[in-house]
Order: sequence, then structure tokens, then C-alpha cells
Amino acid sequence: MTRPLRVLILGGTTEARRLAERLAPRSDLDVRLSLAGRTSNPVPHPVPLRVGGFGGAEGLAQYMKDERIDRLIDATHPYAAQMSANAAHAAARADVPLLALRRPAWRPVAGDRWREVADAQAAARALGDAPRRVFLALGRNEIAPFAGAPQHFYLVRSVDPVEPPLAVPHAVYIRARGPFREEDDRALLAGHEIDVVVAKNSGGPAAYGKIAAARALGLPVILLQRPVLPQTAVMADARGSYVLVVNSSVPAKNVPELIALLRANPGKYSFSSSGSGASSHLASVLFNSMANVSAVHVPYKGSSPSVTDLVSGQVAYTIETVPSIISFVKSGRLRALAVSTAKRSAAMPELGTIADDLPGYEMSGWIGLMAPAGMPNELRARLSAETRKILQDPDIRSRFIALGLDPAGNTPEEYTEFLKRQNDRYASIVKQAGLKLD
Ligand code: NAP
Repeated sequence: MTRPLRVLILGGTTEARRLAERLAPRSDLDVRLSLAGRTSNPVPHPVPLRVGGFGGAEGLAQYMKDERIDRLIDATHPYAAQMSANAAHAAARADVPLLALRRPAWRPVAGDRWREVADAQAAARALGDAPRRVFLALGRNEIAPFAGAPQHFYLVRSVDPVEPPLAVPHAVYIRARGPFREEDDRALLAGHEIDVVVAKNSGGPAAYGKIAAARALGLPVILLQRPVLPQTAVMADARGSYVLVVNSSVPAKNVPELIALLRANPGKYSFSSSGSGASSHLASVLFNSMANVSAVHVPYKGSSPSVTDLVSGQVAYTIETVPSIISFVKSGRLRALAVSTAKRSAAMPELGTIADDLPGYEMSGWIGLMAPAGMPNELRARLSAETRKILQDPDIRSRFIALGLDPAGNTPEEYTEFLKRQNDRYASIVKQAGLKLD
């Protein structure tokens, strides 16, 4: 007799519990569920439980080997990004197929007054200086940053007691476990005269009561952004050059002349980008730092307004994608000096590279194909091979080139390595330049 398929569910969510309930009666499955151990008294589950961390991805991979797990299901909370990343790595390492249950985020509807922030620290800052009455619907491990904003009153709701309590003079603690109904949350918010709600975008119905209640009462909601969950690289489809362009009134005719001009006039000229931290910004930051020049950064909301102001002479130069500048270069309103890639670009083959004058300079935009983590290897290989075949088609290639993109077409392994190098590269530029998100 074949033994039942052993399934490990990474839980901590209603979905994980429901899934366990559905699978528990099946005699062909041997299901167990894992909890982080965040709450001291978890709700009962219909399958055997194990509680506590595994010791990173390595630990989970080892656990799955030791326990002969056949399938892994990641049904963790949308904010449990570490666990989801570990699950993807461990599944690949132990060669165990992985399935992820992802809970969709809430979307704003008419009447919602949402503001998204990066994390709890940013949420504490977003409350402002003036004292407010805040409903904190965050995990007890996430509320520490609010001690830095003691001028506010906090109503804190958590499953387990917050210990030690927040070091602020005005806080009230409520212990409760969802689901929470809209009318109850409305009464709670009104009763404590709350004027702002801070929460995670957990999705699902159980925690939506406060969101609906805030809308009904016209209250603003500060939402912590969802973390990025792992995906699997399939391949890089195409690499796009950026182009260093100047307004046609700028006297520099080539890269050395632009560098000389900027060096002779530190801080006098300005450059635009499609936004603070956008790749066009990072491309210019790298150029300025390697050329040892200083100029004023003017961030815009997108490439179009950035290039429009470059054309009208509000700023002197930028480094932008081929499609966004090419018509202005052709009409003579912008002068293209060089491309950002290590090699010349098929889209503008007449241009040399910035690296010709600044050896080692390289920036490229790229478009890649990603798949959900846990896609079976055979399927990923097939998708990758078929996409590579399509990219060899002369008609498709010429369309990519017309868009300023050089079709690359590498393997999943090469693409994974490429993404890692890109990540390291951008991280070092951001660190070197001391860039911060606004
Ligand atoms: P995390 O930051 O992704 O995980 C941190 C570590 O906790 C993991 O590396 C793992 O330790 C352990 N862990 C997490 N989930 C586990 C599971 N199901 N079984 C065994 N170990 C697990 O996640 P988090 O710290 O739990 O929570 C992050 C956010 O998600 C918070 O906002 C929290 O409020 C929210 N959340 C989480 C859960 C949950 O059950 N995890 C439930 C509701 C809400 P090792 O590296 O040692 O394996």
C-alpha cells in the first residue's frame, strides 16, 4: 500500500485552518500544520500542529527531508514575507513542490481615505506632530515605533497582551481576536473618539470591519504596504538602454564635454528624472558620481513630464529610456550623447556608450518574465524555452528593437543570477548616494 501524501501547511491564517479542515478527512493525505507561535493560545486546528520557527530556509528544508514531506503549502499571512521567502528557497532546495495560497489585498472604494506607507515607522511619522487619537490595529510586535510619537492617544487591539506596554502616557489596550464586524468597530472607533486608523492591508473579511467603519465615519486610514512576496525567475526577455540626453541649448556635444561643463560649474546645472529612486534617477546618480560632478536633481512624476521639461530647457540633462526621448532627438530638440549599456544599442546604433568615457559605467532597464514561486521545474523550463524561441523570430525582434529593447533571452538560472547582480548593484548605488524614499 502506498503511504498517504504528506502535506505541510505553513499556517497562522484562517485560510490555512480552513484548508486543513477540508484536507483532514482525506485518507490519501497526511496533513500537518505549522504555526509561528506568535499567539500563546492558538485556535484549535483539525490536524496535528507543530509550533515555532524552523531555523530559516535551511531548517525548513531539513525538516521536510527528515519528516519526508511530499508537498508544501504556504498559507501564511500576506505580511509574513520572511516565511514565504524561506518556503520558496526550502522547497527548491528540498525539491518539494510548493503551492502558495495568496490572499488578495483590499482595494479602496468610494469614500475611503487611505494613505499607504512603507512600514510602522513611516506610519508613526505620518501621524504628524499634533496630538491625534489613533486606533492601532497592528500586531503587538509591530507597535514599538509608536513609542517615538508619545503625543498621540493610542487604542491598541491585539490577540495577546502587549508586554511591556507602549512607553506613552495615553494608551488603552483591548484584547480581542477577529473576525470583527463593521458595526462593532464603528462603535469602538466612535466610542474612543478615534480620528485615524493605522492597519495592515491584510485582505479578507475577518479584519475588514475597521476599514468599513473608518469609511462610514469619514476617518483616514494609514495602511502599511504589503511586503513583496517571492516569485521565480523564468527569463529576461529584453534589455533596454537608457540614453544620456541634453537640451539642445547645452553647449556639450559629447560626454567628455558635458563632464567638463558640469565640473566647471558645480551645482549650477540640473538634471531631471522620472522620480526619486526611479531607475533614471539612479542612472544619473551613478553618472554624476563616476564623473565626479555635482548637479541639482529635479524629480518628476514619470518620464513624460521629465522629458517635457528637458525639451523646454527647465533642466539641462537626463538619462532616460529610448522611447521617451527618440522623437525629440530626431526633431533636434534634444541631443543624445551616449547610451547607458555596456554595448551599443540596436535601437540607436550610431551612439557610443557612456562607458567609452567612464569605464565600468553600465545601467540597463530590463523586462523579464516571472512565475509564482513553486512553479514545477519542468513547466518553468518549458515556458522559458518557448519564450526564447519566440524572441528569435525576426519580426518580434524588430518590434522589440523599435521600442528600444534588445531581446536577450537567457535561461532561468542566468536570469536569477542577473537579478541578484542587479539587486546588489542598485543597493550599492542607493547606499553610496545615501538615497532615501520620500
Ligand atoms: P515572518 O516575518 O515572515 O517570519 C519570521 C519567522 O517566524 C520565520 O522566519 C520563521 O522562523 C517563523 N515563522 C513564521 N511563520 C511560521 C510558520 N507558519 N511556521 C513556523 N515558523 C514560522 O512572519 P511573522 O514574524 O510571523 O509575521 C510577520 C507579519 O505577519 C506580522 O505583521 C504579523 O502580524 C503577520 N502575521 C503573521 C502570522 C503568522 O502566523 N506567521 C499570522 C498573522 C499575522 P524560522 O526562520 O526560524 O523558521
